[in-house]
Amino acid sequence: MIMLVTADALIKYAENKIGYPLNLKVVVSKDRYLFPKKRDLAFCNGEEIVLSDKLEYLPIENQIAVIAHEISHCDLIQQDIEHTEREADKHAEDIFGFNIYYDQDDIQTTEYGKKPRPSWLPK
Ligand SMILES: [Zn+2]
Repeated sequence: MIMLVTADALIKYAENKIGYPLNLKVVVSKDRYLFPKKRDLAFCNGEEIVLSDKLEYLPIENQIAVIAHEISHCDLIQQDIEHTEREADKHAEDIFGFNIYYDQDDIQTTEYGKKPRPSWLPK
């Protein structure tokens, strides 16, 4: 699955930038109960990133921004840094050097959209 190649490349980029390994496992799930809403596409626990296969069908700009956001969460979790969703976006932007916007479906994207993260989304 090409999305896993994208995730792998982003993780390697992040590890190179932050200077230590994240030891992340990435899996793709087709479970619709894990990802009930349209914008439910990924989550992480610090060690593993679970991507919905729904993400594969979105533009690469969404895939990159969603995965970058999750890698940021993982780094912050591993460092025991409590953080908000907006802080996860900011940390991702610091690591990757691109902005994270929210598109018409409130999904992260590297191209155009709302910024910062809309206030009606989970904090
Ligand atoms: Zn998040």
